[in-house]
Amino acid sequence: MIVMKFGGTSVQSAQYMDKAIDIAVSQIDRAPVLISSAMSKITDTFVDITQCAERGEKDKAFSLYDQIVSRHESTAGEFLTGTTLEASLKHIRALFEEIKAFVTGLVMLKECSPRSSDALLSFGELLSTTLLYYRANQRGINAELLDSRDLVVTDNSFTYASPVIDQTYRNIKNHVQPVPGKLIIGQGFIARTGEGAVSTLGRGGSDYTATIFGAALKADEVQIWTDVDGIMTSDPRIVDRARTIDYISYAEAAELAYFGAKVVHPSTIQPATELGIPVLVKNTMNLDGKYTSIISTVEQSGLRAIAGKKGITLINITSSRMLNAYGFLQKIFSTFARFKTPVDLIATSEVSVSMTIDNTSALEEIVGSLQETGKVHVEHEKGIICLVGQDFWKDSLFVSRVFKALSGIPIRMISLGSSDINLSLVVPQKMLHNSIQKLHNEFFT
Ligand code: ADP
Ligand code: ASP
Ligand code: MG
Repeated sequence: MIVMKFGGTSVQSAQYMDKAIDIAVSQIDRAPVLISSAMSKITDTFVDITQCAERGEKDKAFSLYDQIVSRHESTAGEFLTGTTLEASLKHIRALFEEIKAFVTGLVMLKECSPRSSDALLSFGELLSTTLLYYRANQRGINAELLDSRDLVVTDNSFTYASPVIDQTYRNIKNHVQPVPGKLIIGQGFIARTGEGAVSTLGRGGSDYTATIFGAALKADEVQIWTDVDGIMTSDPRIVDRARTIDYISYAEAAELAYFGAKVVHPSTIQPATELGIPVLVKNTMNLDGKYTSIISTVEQSGLRAIAGKKGITLINITSSRMLNAYGFLQKIFSTFARFKTPVDLIATSEVSVSMTIDNTSALEEIVGSLQETGKVHVEHEKGIICLVGQDFWKDSLFVSRVFKALSGIPIRMISLGSSDINLSLVVPQKMLHNSIQKLHNEFFT
């Protein structure tokens, strides 16, 4: 069997949904499970509604709700007819009623907890997959609609929940039976906690759902269908001459995703790695174009791609007490652990430690606690550049070429060595794109 995931732009309209179904039908003999995102911009619109609700902007919240209703109703009207149209409208209107009740409650309370936000955002995927399912029916395809909330079980870290893997795999294996000739359709992104509250896997999380299904069902392949020709040497929105990478290893793809290449969600690779399932990244708008295969190992050494991430905060701690002392780093890391804040990069000297974080929700408390260990200095608005590839160190000129390309850019921190495949640099956020362009010019053109 195979899993095929379609992102928001790939299901943005009736025409695109038909195209996604065409792609699935062309591989119907491979027993496909189709995982879909919400239609493009719908999740963003739900996020806007939560913000309006918090500000008590009732009219604006309901005008956004109306936009969601009309986008889905008009899509249904474009490609469904007769009793199928009627059935689909009945189905999506029941969802609209639920959404309306939610929005009314949120606007009244003027608050939206992460838990409520997840419940609201989940409707995007429920709506898109309902339309896909009825369209497949209308086209005479043997289709089944799943409810991923009943299959994917997570912890209660609402807005970026982690799946409880054993239970999730068991549910999927027990309830999903792919067979050649049948199109099974399920939602990406959405799940439920052990207690039954709706949760989500974080923005862009449908990719992760796809590999979770793939691993649970021991898929031959997971296909991620998106709006670019696979994983490229850099984000094509930043670098004009970015080009497709034909093969990339799981480890390299995971680093790239974590450090900003949003073409796949950072957790996507993990479930595929365990079983060695190939993950293909392909373009819905360019079926015969180039694409990327993410696989276990790629022999070719050298630089593969450059990613970048904005919104980074740098924390420096200086203390003479660190000199010849042990247990110092442990104290620092226990602070980050206590406030559930992951540290991305770290560099140390005898008397100081520099670290980067991108989640600043507990920054004040973290700084307060770190001040017990030394003098703390915080710098905001930084960006991380991440160069990913294999065996950099074998090329003695590699690092000097990086610095030469970035001459004139104040590099604030460097991290090389913790993994063989990643050289990371911290630069001012406003210089991030320009730095990536310079590096791409140096290494790829
Ligand atoms: P989808 O809705 O299909 O999930 P996303 O918008 O989440 O699509 O991801 C695709 C986007 O990722 C591309 O349009 C591109 O701008 C961005 N992107 C960032 N880095 C890369 C990269 N290295 N290669 C390809 N695309 C990238
Ligand atoms: N719809 C969700 C989002 O926009 C999940 C996804 O598209 O992967 O973040
Ligand atoms: Mg995405």
